[in-house]
Amino acid sequence: MAAAPQPPAIVSFEEARHIVEEHASLLRPRGKELVELLDGAGRVLAEPIIADRPFPPFPRAARDGYAVRAADVARSPARLLVIGEVRAGASSEEAAIQVDPGQAVVIMTGAPAPSGADAVVMIEHTSRHGDQVEIKQAIEPGANIVPTGSEAKRGERLLSPGARLDHAAIAVAASVGKSRLLVYTKPRVAVLSTGDEVVDIDVPPAPNQIRNSNSYSLAVQIQAAGGEPLLLPIAPDEAVRLRELIAEGLDADLLLLAGGVSMGKYDLVEQVLAQFGAEFFFTGAHIQPGHSIVFGRCGAGTHVREKAEKHTYFFGLPGNPVSTMVTFELFARPLLESLAGMTPRKLVFLSARLKTEIKTRTGLKRFLPGILSGEFEAAEVELARWQGSGDIAATARANCYIVIPPDRDSIPAGEWVPVLR
Ligand code: AMP
Ligand code: MG
Repeated sequence: MAAAPQPPAIVSFEEARHIVEEHASLLRPRGKELVELLDGAGRVLAEPIIADRPFPPFPRAARDGYAVRAADVARSPARLLVIGEVRAGASSEEAAIQVDPGQAVVIMTGAPAPSGADAVVMIEHTSRHGDQVEIKQAIEPGANIVPTGSEAKRGERLLSPGARLDHAAIAVAASVGKSRLLVYTKPRVAVLSTGDEVVDIDVPPAPNQIRNSNSYSLAVQIQAAGGEPLLLPIAPDEAVRLRELIAEGLDADLLLLAGGVSMGKYDLVEQVLAQFGAEFFFTGAHIQPGHSIVFGRCGAGTHVREKAEKHTYFFGLPGNPVSTMVTFELFARPLLESLAGMTPRKLVFLSARLKTEIKTRTGLKRFLPGILSGEFEAAEVELARWQGSGDIAATARANCYIVIPPDRDSIPAGEWVPVLR
């Protein structure tokens, strides 16, 4: 006989976040793999990236112009004798040129400043007369020269494990000559959509059926959070098949169920999870959308594959498409980011001025699809017209969520409100 589900715990948004973050902090990525530099884009770094030489490796000219001794041009205009030229990529002989008092050298951006010179005058502030150059502006020592090692010393750590590799991080790796990178293995996230009414997208739906969109929105969100989605077949609202598919899903590093977690007679997800000995950390949150969100974990041992971890965590996300999307972002994302090897990102709220009044009821923290426009102090936001948490079309028009605290039943136009992008 299956164990009865533990008493449900419905928690506030903040408690739910806190519970997830605590569990997330205990999780580690599964393994590491070596990838080609460009295949590292979007992945999570598993090794430190160390400067293999000083950055810059030589005193680098930051402008096209003339390398000079600043003392010579303390009073302008000044006339100097041009004794040579140093290009970017200069040979050591070219670069060995010595600038003595009264002399200047033509220099290009990216070239090494010759010895003796301690500043570069921009070409715009000079005029050339035969072998002489007139410097029309006084200049400080050090101007337009980036000293050796000023960006990073040799041996300094430029990137740490856990960094998500964006274009700038890939540039750093390239600049130290890493053609391959050690990254964390992507966590495999099983996605199980449930519901007798839900059909595959390549099957013509009967009049009362709904195409499966949740598996696809989740797949995209999982990829964006650094995971690898594994889409399971749709589970019916029937315990035996649901159980088989949950068993398969628990073999992954994280299981996301969508649908079947509300209070209806055919919402069987929690019961079936309980048959696997699930521990439930919460079975609802005072939020809208997504009130019936479930978070817990199952012990190992039910699975096909041998796993290093003792537990597989799961989320039972409500099936309404907007609820599924929002609850993934609010709760599943931090756990997945930890499994992927990142330090989970905190939620960052922007502020925007409300364009039109919002009327609602107290009791729930709400994340309502909004349309944000304007920027800086002119940022304005309004609710996207929506028909409730099933309205995918409204969410696709929206570009943010307006956050409404549980103690407010109306927010007047003109008030600054928190917005989640
Ligand atoms: P449930 O959470 O199972 O009560 O489902 C709530 C609503 O979401 C119902 O209207 C379902 O038809 C809809 N729904 C459930 N699963 C999906 C899915 N995979 N794709 C699109 N809509 C869904
Ligand atoms: Mg359902």
